[in-house]
Amino acid sequence: MSSGLSTSNTATTPETTAGTRSPRRKTSHLKDVPETLELRESLRDRCAEIAARIDRSVPMTKDEMEQVARRTLEEADLPEGYLGWMMVMISSEFWKESLAAVPPERRLFLLPHCLKHAEGCPAEYDQFGMNCKECGACSIADFRGLAEEMGYRVLVAEGSPVVMKIIVGGYVDAVVGVACLNVLEKAIDKVLLAGIPCMAVPLLSSDCRNTKVDEAWVDEMIRTPFVPAQKVTRSYVHLMRAAGNLFKPENLDTLAPRIRTRGELGEDAVRMAEIEGMDAISATEHIAYDFLSRGGKHSRPFITLAAYDALTGGHGTGPEADTAIADFPKSVQRAAMSIETFHKASLVHDDIEDDDAFRYGQPAVHRRFGVPTAINVGDYLIGLGYRLLSRSSDDGVSSEARVDVLDALAAAHMRLAEGQGSELLWRDGKDRHLTPLDALKVYALKTSPAFEAALMSGVRMAGDAEPYREAIRTFSRNMGVAFQILNDLGDWIGDDTNKMSAGGDVFGGRPTLLWALALQSLPEEQATQLLELADSDCGLSDSERLQQVRKLYEQADVFHIALKLVDKHQARAEKVADEIDVEELRRLLYFLVDTVLERPEMPAPPVVKIGVTASLG
Ligand code: SF4
Repeated sequence: MSSGLSTSNTATTPETTAGTRSPRRKTSHLKDVPETLELRESLRDRCAEIAARIDRSVPMTKDEMEQVARRTLEEADLPEGYLGWMMVMISSEFWKESLAAVPPERRLFLLPHCLKHAEGCPAEYDQFGMNCKECGACSIADFRGLAEEMGYRVLVAEGSPVVMKIIVGGYVDAVVGVACLNVLEKAIDKVLLAGIPCMAVPLLSSDCRNTKVDEAWVDEMIRTPFVPAQKVTRSYVHLMRAAGNLFKPENLDTLAPRIRTRGELGEDAVRMAEIEGMDAISATEHIAYDFLSRGGKHSRPFITLAAYDALTGGHGTGPEADTAIADFPKSVQRAAMSIETFHKASLVHDDIEDDDAFRYGQPAVHRRFGVPTAINVGDYLIGLGYRLLSRSSDDGVSSEARVDVLDALAAAHMRLAEGQGSELLWRDGKDRHLTPLDALKVYALKTSPAFEAALMSGVRMAGDAEPYREAIRTFSRNMGVAFQILNDLGDWIGDDTNKMSAGGDVFGGRPTLLWALALQSLPEEQATQLLELADSDCGLSDSERLQQVRKLYEQADVFHIALKLVDKHQARAEKVADEIDVEELRRLLYFLVDTVLERPEMPAPPVVKIGVTASLG
């Protein structure tokens, strides 16, 4: 190693445009931790120097962090293996000032349970993680004690989904954490892209048992003093929260007041017993509003609000974000609600078409009230979706704009139904032949219109949308297709938080690109074998069928071909983003690319689990 890290004075925000972004790849060889404390400390100091010179008005993307980390390691003549560790250090130093601007009682402190004394730890677990008994056998008790004393919320748990829920739910505004590089790699994507101040100290190993950490660094990180910020790094978290808050009962009643029912929309989903006690006419409204106020990632309303914000100055991501968003015209808020209401209607109908048992961890609407009532609730939600746009609000948004948004949503609704329809006909038909082009056509109809309608609604509410119409259509088409391919790849991993079943493509008979690519590139004999495996009476158990299909998919190399297609569609979407002249809108499109097109980590050879499909949420 050279005698000290050389100083290059050109470190500003590295440029990332379409084609310069690194393809997604395996990263296990990039997760070494520098062996000595002395080396770790000199590298951390170097990261602090570099971060101090980086423009912090907007969050760094993962690619930008990688470029800075790589250059720093090359300058210090250090191995590439430290890359993951360096990226965590650079990102922590980048966010340090923004984190200091968040008072400790608004910070979340995350600890991994693998720090515990594995042999004798008496701690118990609940749905929020581990409850340390402070026996003192490991550092968790001390760290937790110090953090709670300062006012932090502390969780001894892992996994970005719960963290994102806590952040978007508005419970905290910053995260500090201790975790191994594997967990930090997954967390970094989501938390940082949303522009949430986050610092972390990596564990010294990823052994998952009796792990160790630089305790002095963790202590120092927890004690980061509260210093109100001079400058704020832009963040989408406020718009994400605003999208979720639209469906809180108090906002539902303000923006879309109920006509027939009053009273609380409860914690537990409404059930037949409760409905039987109501007058029949009010029941439909009650079930519909109950479902509307429940679950979901609210991606569509977020996109509509963010697109509107991007074309009205971008104040919703800046220092006065909450005030700016609160001043959004009611028509804009209703347009954002409307697109989610149409989406919820299609989910009620989808669950019937696929006979899915659960939605948002609850029995699906048709499982609680029967198919006829569920169909009717879906129709009610469609009507409510139109009503949210038809009513005027005297808030400066023209009726022409509302009609144009109505038209965009209606067009999207019809195309989504065409996509769903073609999938249902294929599923219920006998012929299992499918070409990749057929599958891609269905994908472009099934998901792209949702992106397009969400973006166009926000853009049109902000003013003339014509200059952006073609760009948004091309961007959305490529995003939708890439997302759907990733969705099918994810089917081979399993995500049981949304629909508690797995392997949906083969068992559910969905026309997927993976199936089409395999049929196209397998030799005739194997292609015939694949077609036979689609038949549940082929004499094999579900797990045997799944293993056989996976073998044929791997023989046809469909997983890698599919990932390459994702890269191609992503590059096309990024090319569109690069041609957008409004910086806030360009940044939003890149944010969507980075957050929506997250690659699944392709699994090792199959551990058979039965049936999965992830949705846009
Ligand atoms: S201090 Fe807490 S986490 Fe550590 S071993 Fe004891 S009970 Fe377990």
